[in-house]
Amino acid sequence: MTNQTCKLCLETKELRKSHIFPEFLYKPLYDENHQYKVLITKNDPKDRFKGIYEKLFCENCEAILGEYEDYAAKNLFINPLLESEIKRTDTGFVINDLDYSKLKLFQLSLLWRPSLTIRNEVRRINLGPHAEKIRKMLLEGNPGRYFEYGCSISYLPNRPDLLRGVIIPPHPLEERIEGHRGFRIFISGYFWIYITSSHTEQYSMKPLFLNEDGTLPIFNSNSMGWNFMIKWARELESAQL
Ligand SMILES: [Zn+2]
Repeated sequence: MTNQTCKLCLETKELRKSHIFPEFLYKPLYDENHQYKVLITKNDPKDRFKGIYEKLFCENCEAILGEYEDYAAKNLFINPLLESEIKRTDTGFVINDLDYSKLKLFQLSLLWRPSLTIRNEVRRINLGPHAEKIRKMLLEGNPGRYFEYGCSISYLPNRPDLLRGVIIPPHPLEERIEGHRGFRIFISGYFWIYITSSHTEQYSMKPLFLNEDGTLPIFNSNSMGWNFMIKWARELESAQL
């Protein structure tokens, strides 16, 4: 067994096989052939293959990231949310009583991991100097302030069931928001939009991020969300011709 550099602790160790996207994110579309469905635009029109994994982390670092994933899996994805944990608002709903640190670190890991990939099924994203900052936050278990690499989550209204389990890996936002760059991930009917900038303290939409008091607003993306999906579907269609 050859040792390689672990991408999280940077030590030379035996690396484990791990999935780029945690398995629980795919669950709803695990089909009869036991294949996952990940949809990719443009560069790689392939849309169907077994869970994508590669060797990136040592056993210890797998356990660190695994803790963040387990928390998100149990609290957002697998166990249904109780009515008491959700409060309806004018713009969507809010989930209460979450562990800010674990969920924020999970959000960060979801953005950071595809920046490391060497698998060509997933387009590698370039986080620039933020990749190293996020690596340290993940290793040290430091979630940062709520506006640092904040992520706002919105849902597609009246989303059809066929979008359950569909993941669109991180893509840079087409336009800056208030001068900030960002990335979008689509997971099972929800948009996760990250603002990746060093000076987000003044960002006017920071109340949409997961808050340090454990509240997570989830808002209705309305026509904005559907406009994106229509554009994305057209790109996918032209990539497959
Ligand atoms: Zn490691």
